[in-house]
Amino acid sequence: MTERLSHFIGGAPVAPSSGEHFTSTNPATLEPLYEAARGNDEDVRRAVGAAKAAFESPSWSRLSPTKRGRLLRNLGDLIAENAEELARFESLDNGKLLREMRGQLTTLPEYYYYYGGLADKVQGAQIPTSSFEMLNYTQREPLGVVGAITPWNSPLTLTTSKIAPALAAGNTVVIKPSEYTSRTILRVAELAIEAGFPDGVVNVVTGFGAEAGAPLVSHPDLAKISFTGSTQTGARIAAEAARRFIGCTLELGGKSPNIVFDDADVANAAMGVIAGIYAAAGQTCIAGSRVFAHKAIYDELLERVTERARTIRIGDPLVDSTELGPLAFADQLSKVSSYVDLGVSEGASVRVGGGRPDIDLPGYFYAPTVLTDVDNSMRVVREEIFGPVAAIMPFETEDELVALANDTEYGLAAGVWTQNLARAHRMARRLDAGTIWVNTYRAMSPMSPRQGYKNSGVGIEHGLESMNEYTRLKSVWINTDEGPVADPFVMRS
Ligand code: NAD
Repeated sequence: MTERLSHFIGGAPVAPSSGEHFTSTNPATLEPLYEAARGNDEDVRRAVGAAKAAFESPSWSRLSPTKRGRLLRNLGDLIAENAEELARFESLDNGKLLREMRGQLTTLPEYYYYYGGLADKVQGAQIPTSSFEMLNYTQREPLGVVGAITPWNSPLTLTTSKIAPALAAGNTVVIKPSEYTSRTILRVAELAIEAGFPDGVVNVVTGFGAEAGAPLVSHPDLAKISFTGSTQTGARIAAEAARRFIGCTLELGGKSPNIVFDDADVANAAMGVIAGIYAAAGQTCIAGSRVFAHKAIYDELLERVTERARTIRIGDPLVDSTELGPLAFADQLSKVSSYVDLGVSEGASVRVGGGRPDIDLPGYFYAPTVLTDVDNSMRVVREEIFGPVAAIMPFETEDELVALANDTEYGLAAGVWTQNLARAHRMARRLDAGTIWVNTYRAMSPMSPRQGYKNSGVGIEHGLESMNEYTRLKSVWINTDEGPVADPFVMRS
């Protein structure tokens, strides 16, 4: 018998109103893990109702910002105390390496410490205007009930990027995690109660996008939606948010270039290419899926990358020595595999990988793959595959490279490998992406703001700037002149 989970609403587990559950499966072994509650619009109504009541309750709305910050830091501490359990849950759910999850869990509390520290620094300003008698100041207020809809590839981190600033600013939240990874977020909601958050401040409705996500976005009491997921779903959510005139933060897909110049340390760059595309089996928004290598070092880079790709240890993500786990679910596997088939039919050559690896686990495994003989006209180079598939292409001049790298609908991130300082800065300026890494890949911090360019997103996550995404600004005018109004038909400013 697998464990049956409920939603988490108003500070307690709540059974789904339909009585229905769905099974979450271990993608490495295909064994059932637990049953999650199948949320619907009724469950969403309850959760938003609980979040609205909590937002209006003095136990949250009158809590001092310093005490709010304290609660965030408590939650960070509790996450640190429960790190092993959370890392294991998430690894079982989506197939990420337990090793990687342990690493993520060491930084996850920092998000709560960082935003806990910002809770009492949400402030406005006194604004000088042209009238001596007018006092004008701004204040920042929480928005109300914030919806957070997140994907399966890094549920804890991606959800935390939203709820930590939202809570620090004084909002309440309703989270709809991915249907593939419900468990860790439910656990965080329980820990939030233990940390001292009042009931209803953090709520979770599990279930599918159309059944539980869509009613959340269209709920009339939702003040803002913060979404991470595919560009296609993001477009739908943005349209609904626009219809209702509510704010939205969108972190979407990518097809990031990882660029190796002829002056790079090629051995290190090859490791950067491996990290960019095979870490998390390529299931990251920032995957460096388009590799551009200067002609002079193209053969050497290709050789190093294919050699390492061939020897990547594939297997159970819970085992310490494993380097590549399974894809997260069956549709992911068929998507990745049909993209490689499509690439081959478009003329690509498979240098390594290109199918199921030879291992004795039944899960959704796909071998690290390198495609060559590819160019920007092909769908495998243009579309997000979200799997361990690198397309490696040569270039000759910097101008040609910039044109190729920027020729994409996405603009999430880019990697540059060079030992030339001037070139590094020049590339940082010329590449059309929200994050640029030089001689590294996948670096991230709650302190460093990031934004997707083009179809990769709207709004900012992390850093001081993201606090503004979860507040609204009020401008207050006080007339300090108590004399008679001289002319009511002339505006004073
Ligand atoms: P997805 O868009 O299919 O689903 C994301 C979430 O949206 C899930 O919780 C899903 O249930 C929900 N959803 C689906 N349809 C919905 C609807 N109509 N209304 C409301 N909610 C709905 O994405 P996914 O497959 O879970 O995640 C992979 C995608 O996420 C990739 O494109 C990846 O690049 C992107 N991603 C982006 C970032 C970033 O920071 N930019 C980070 C991680 C993942």
